[in-house]
Order: sequence, then C-alpha cells, then structure tokens
Amino acid sequence: MTATLVTDPVIDELVGICGPDNVFTDRSSRVNRARVPAPFPVHRWAEHVPDVVVLPTSAEQISEVVKLANRHRIPVVPRAGGTGLTDGAVPLRHGILVDVKLMNKILEIDLDDRTVTVQPGINMLKLNEELRQHGVIYPDDPASYPCSLVGGRIGTSGWSLIGGRYGHTRDLVISFQIVLPTGELIWVGDGGGRKVRKSSTGYQLKHLFMGHQGTLGIVTEAVLELVPRPEAEFAAFFSYPDYETAWRSTGALAKSGLATLAGVVLFDEWKLDYLRRDDEAYIPQPDDVRCVVATAMYGTTDEVRPGAKRLLRIGTQTGGAYLGDEISQGDWASRHDRYATPLHGRLRDGQVVPMSWHCEDASINWSKLPQVRREWHDIVARLGDRFRIFDDWGMFAYTNGAFKPWGDYLTEIDVGIWEQELDDAAWDAWVTAKRDIAAVAIAYGGSISACHGACRAGEVDLVPEELGGGWEVMKKVKRVLDPLNIMNPGKYLLDQAYEGDEP
Ligand SMILES: Cc1cc2nc3c(=O)[nH]c(=O)nc-3n(C[C@H](O)[C@H](O)[C@H](O)COP(=O)(O)OP(=O)(O)OC[C@H]3O[C@@H](n4cnc5c(N)ncnc54)[C@H](O)[C@@H]3O)c2cc1C
Repeated sequence: MTATLVTDPVIDELVGICGPDNVFTDRSSRVNRARVPAPFPVHRWAEHVPDVVVLPTSAEQISEVVKLANRHRIPVVPRAGGTGLTDGAVPLRHGILVDVKLMNKILEIDLDDRTVTVQPGINMLKLNEELRQHGVIYPDDPASYPCSLVGGRIGTSGWSLIGGRYGHTRDLVISFQIVLPTGELIWVGDGGGRKVRKSSTGYQLKHLFMGHQGTLGIVTEAVLELVPRPEAEFAAFFSYPDYETAWRSTGALAKSGLATLAGVVLFDEWKLDYLRRDDEAYIPQPDDVRCVVATAMYGTTDEVRPGAKRLLRIGTQTGGAYLGDEISQGDWASRHDRYATPLHGRLRDGQVVPMSWHCEDASINWSKLPQVRREWHDIVARLGDRFRIFDDWGMFAYTNGAFKPWGDYLTEIDVGIWEQELDDAAWDAWVTAKRDIAAVAIAYGGSISACHGACRAGEVDLVPEELGGGWEVMKKVKRVLDPLNIMNPGKYLLDQAYEGDEP
C-alpha cells in the first residue's frame, strides 16, 4: 500500500472527531513525534515525519480515527511515551500519528479485587504516586519507569526490572480494551471477565495483542494488577575478579528459590569500563573489580531480613565480594536514570561527543550467556575498527525470573553511536551488525528480543527464521485483522502478508 496524502478534507474530518485543539499539522508537533531514542542517520530524519498528529481523549474518538483511516487507506501509528527502542512508534509511511498522552486518567482503584483501571497514556511513576496512598503499587518497573506509558508497555510487552518477584508487563496487565485495525472496540483478557486472571474459555487473546508494536490496533483502557506496597527493599551488589565467576554466581543467586528475589543483573567488564570512563559512573571500584552482580529483594520485613542474609551468603560463597550498603542501595535507587542521561559519550581518545546509545537485546538461556557474550563483543569490535563512531558500552544479563528462577535471561549489548556522523556506509554496516547480533541469539537457541521487539532494520530480517511456521500464522492474523494494512505498516516485515494484492 502506498501512503495516501492526508488532504485538507481528511484534516477537517479529524478535527470533527478529535476537536480543533487536538489535531496538529504544524511542523514542530509532527517532527517531535517522528523519532524514538534508537539511532537513525540524521540526514534521513525527514523520511519518517507523520502528516498529522492527533491527541484523542476517548476510545470512541480513536475508533473513529481508525475507521476514517480505513476509508482513505491512510497509515495510523500509535505512540505513547516514544521511548521504544525498536522503531515501533516511528511513522515509517507517514500518515496519522495517534498520540495517547491525553488519555492519562486512573478510572478505578479496586482494592477488593486488587486491580486498577487506567487509560493508556499514564506512566508507572504517576500511577504509583496515587496508589501508594492506598498501600498498593503496580509493579511494572522498567528503567524507563518515569517516561514510558502503559499503552507502549503493552505495545512492546515490556520487561520489568523487578520482574523476578512480580512478573513482567504481560503478567501484570489483566485485560485491556483495544480498537482493532478496522475500528471495532473489543476487550481481551484471560476469558471475558475484565478482572479475571486465569481462564480456560477460548483462545488466550490477550497474548496476541501483547507486543504487537501497534500493528494490531490501539489500546484504549487497561486493567492492571495491584500488589501490596513492599514494606522492605534490600539491594546487594557483589564484585568479581572475572566474568566466569560472576556468571556462575549469577546462576546460583537466580536459582536460589528465594521468593522475595526481584532481580539479578550481571554487568560485564566492558560495561564497568564504560561506567568508569564516563563522568557519571555509578559504580566506582578498584581496577581489579572486573564484573558486578546486582541483586534486589522486595517483600515484608519478616521475609526480606532472613532472605537478605541468605542472599549475601550465596553471593559471597560463590566468589563475590559484597560492595557495601552505600553502593548497593545507592546504585539500585538510581536504576531508572542509569540510561536516561548518556546522550553524550566519550570516544576512545577521550573526546566528549553527543552520542546516542543503542542496545540490542535478546532472550538467552543462562548456559549460553558466555558464548553469546564473546560473539557479540567480537561483532561490535569489528564494527568499531572500521568506524570510530561506534563504541562498545558493554553488556548486562538480567534474570527473567518471573515465576521460574531457572528461566532465560534478558541480555543486552549497549553500543554508543555518534549519530551525527552516521553516513550511509556506517548505517549499512550497523544494520548488518544488528543482523549478525540477532543471528547469534538464534544460533544459541535464544530469541532475538526479550523486551524491545525486533522490528528495526537488520534484526527484523531474521524474525521469519526465528518463528518458523509461526511466522506464516502471524501474517495470516495480520491480514485478517487489518485487511487494508493501515495499522503501523512497514513493521515486522508484515507487508509480506499483503504480497500479490493490487497496489
Ligand atoms: C532510558 C530507557 C530505558 C529503558 N528501559 C527499559 C526496560 O527496563 N524495560 C523495557 O521493557 N524497556 C525499556 N526501554 C524501552 C521502552 O521504554 C519500552 O519499550 C516501553 O515499553 C515503550 O513504552 P512507550 O510508552 O515509550 O511506547 P512507545 O515507544 O510510544 O511505543 C512502543 C510501541 O507500542 C506501540 N503503542 C504505543 N501506544 C500504544 C497503544 N495505546 N496501543 C497499541 N500500541 C501502542 C507503538 O506503536 C510502538 O510500536 C527503555 C528505553 C529507554 C529510553
């Protein structure tokens, strides 16, 4: 499908639906919503500017916008916080950008059945400010906690830093309302009941609409899980002389079976080197500290106190040295801004330049982490040798944990990229490197992405290979639900679902 121009009569219709104050055609409103933090060559930014931005205030308005888009065959791209790292909210084919930020209300706090019903434009920080007064929280806790929104969390099927204890977005969203690509409004969840957590009625449709990156509709309301506000929080950081010991210790900690354990994270040598190089390093240590494992526990005081003792014992008995309360608690408390600041970086010659970081993430089993780490660093080193604008900012691995501590790990390699210098040759080399990084994940029995999604140039090429027969089903689902390919076209190679159609 080619993008139909958004004409004046279409703008008039949008104004009729959303009101004159909530439809924007001026350049800055559109340009401000054209990008996400993942790097893209500066000289090509204009390729992805939407034709018009709307900020609806109700599900019905969104439904009408989508119906209009179908009538005129205009692409529609939902956008929440715009913090996604896989281009999901980037309007690849221009069209109508639906910004859900004005839909940010808490609709109901139900303390009896432990749910909160919200609109998609609220973020976890704001939500929890309200919930805390009631002794409960919504425990979805990404590093982007203050700036990503519930709609985007569902759109990406996000990863929570305390997911080992409470689960991740897919576990914490009980049900939601979604405008389908043809404009119908439906609720999906576990069964029909909006507050039901387990059902055997029919297909588990909630999961179909988790992580669809805006290709299957627009979420307009969600019912979320509430848990008691943790009485006690305990963080313990351990240092190690080498990766092998740190990796083994990570496995022992994550498999401890401690119910209060919310997260176990392994930072490798490159990550520590980078943190030391930057002025904003959070983990100052002597040079013989080569790796760090960070752990955190949440729960009641009665649970956490004895659990913490055991955690410290396991960490030290498996080769770790406890880094002390100040570093452990201070660094854990700053977990939300570890990545929020590095919009600058230091080149290897010490020069400070504006840099964007990019991370490639994957789900990998614990036993395969060392091999994957070696091969990923080799790929980035080869890239860095050719172009000095790329820099290896290290890797971390984060236990998935959710209800099975032996589970897989989110592992991520962070690459600093001097975006202004990203010419076509460097961009092509980066896209190839991304594809190579994804290929390693698949070769070791992993999945290309644990939380960001895999719809950027490079890794997206390998999605069919990873999913096998599932990819054919995915295309059929897309075509049935979105017959005219108006929802976020160009993402996930899903245009292939329409091959053979008349243009
Ligand atoms: C500093 C930083 C730290 C991060 N840390 C984490 C982390 O710890 N864990 C993690 O999982 N991610 C992390 N991310 C990535 C990002 O925050 C997540 O992917 C997040 O879920 C995106 O939410 P958003 O509101 O910004 O969504 P957006 O980027 O606006 O959108 C993401 C996708 O969802 C779609 N979408 C948006 N709204 C809707 C809607 N209402 N209905 C349907 N689809 C919709 C969009 O089209 C897009 O495809 C981080 C990013 C940054 C910049």
